[in-house]
Amino acid sequence: MTKRCTTCGRETSKYVTFKCPVCGETIVRCETCRAKGNEWVCPSCGFVGP
Ligand SMILES: [Zn+2]
Ligand SMILES: [Zn+2]
Repeated sequence: MTKRCTTCGRETSKYVTFKCPVCGETIVRCETCRAKGNEWVCPSCGFVGP
C-alpha cells in the first residue's frame, strides 16, 4: 500500500506518518524527504515543521 508524501507529493511505500502538532492532521513523509530533512507543511493549517 502506498501513500502520497505530504512534502514532495510522490507516491511511496516507504514512509512515516505522524500528526501535525497544531491540528492533528496526519502528515506523510517518504524516506527521501526524511533522509534529507526537508521541511513539511501541514495541508490543513499551514504549519511548517522540521
Ligand atoms: Zn517526499
Ligand atoms: Zn496542521
